[in-house]
Amino acid sequence: MSKMMKAFVMRKVGEVGLMEKPVPQDPGPGGAILKTTRALVCTSDTHTVEGAIGDRKNLTLGHEAVGIVYKLGGEVKGIKEGDRVAVSAITPCYRCDNCLRGFTSQCGEMLGGWKFANIKDGVFAEYFHVNDAEANLALIPDTVRDESAVYATDMMSTGFIGAEKAHIPIGGTVAVFAQGPVGLMATAGARLLGAGLVIAVESVPERQDLAIHFGADRIVDFTKEDPVKAIRNLTGGMGVDSAIEALGAQETFEACVNATRPGGTISVIGYFGKGDYVKIPRLGWGVGMGDKTIQTALCPGGKERMQRLLRLLETGRIDPTPMTTHTLPFEQIERAFSMMASKEDKIIKPLITFAV
Ligand SMILES: [Zn+2]
Ligand SMILES: [Zn+2]
Repeated sequence: MSKMMKAFVMRKVGEVGLMEKPVPQDPGPGGAILKTTRALVCTSDTHTVEGAIGDRKNLTLGHEAVGIVYKLGGEVKGIKEGDRVAVSAITPCYRCDNCLRGFTSQCGEMLGGWKFANIKDGVFAEYFHVNDAEANLALIPDTVRDESAVYATDMMSTGFIGAEKAHIPIGGTVAVFAQGPVGLMATAGARLLGAGLVIAVESVPERQDLAIHFGADRIVDFTKEDPVKAIRNLTGGMGVDSAIEALGAQETFEACVNATRPGGTISVIGYFGKGDYVKIPRLGWGVGMGDKTIQTALCPGGKERMQRLLRLLETGRIDPTPMTTHTLPFEQIERAFSMMASKEDKIIKPLITFAV
């Protein structure tokens, strides 16, 4: 009889729960099996359960985790069993055409780098399998704790790519729409990249405070004033060089287009989980001729990016852990999951701990 473990699964659309699954034993020649130590629950997991990418049957959820290498494929170099490692939410193959073109998040097909809790079992289990381990596993520096490193796997990578794709000129002006965990990391990323003015659009007081903590210069509360007007006022009537959409909603996307100056960039990292179309505001778009660029990105993965993000943690350039509002043991993950779906108790990120 094979060894069993607990896994937190999507039973079907709208239904989740813990179930027993066999511990994966065969990493395959290029893969690895990790023993999970820390994980974070993500809002995108709740979109998946609501049916945003279709139905799944008993698929293990979760894509943000760090762990210890339990078993390693014979062809994997540079890492060994027992190593403490981080793996990105996105695990590209680094061999297909899209990977070789440099679009690794679109591995094989659009969004194809997203494998955990999409096309294979995710990380909310005591053990999980990682494909193409040599390209996807990064050693965690000794001085970086698991509960900090786990933020590199998605929140930092996604938030930062939002800032990177926003083409922020040094000293330039940036507006970040929504200060959930991804928006907060976009705010931090904009500062790291040299923005001269970072405007965070957010109404929840705790998130406003965190936005200031992570480097926002000004807060715009969209429940008290029109955010586009407020952003124009803060930029001498011009609008911002770069607007980052970190929510995934028509209203914020539109505001991003309208709040960006001609020649500016709208960088979208929100997950648009509903509806068939996203509309572009015609006048704000310069009736199609405003020299505005709309960029999109999915969390970049891979060892090299993880190493760079972990370096920021190692040198103390950023400490993402103030985003951890709740810590729960794996046995109580269903509670963390439902809190994340309803955003109750001012939750930002729940950290899930696993018995070692
Ligand atoms: Zn995530
Ligand atoms: Zn690929």
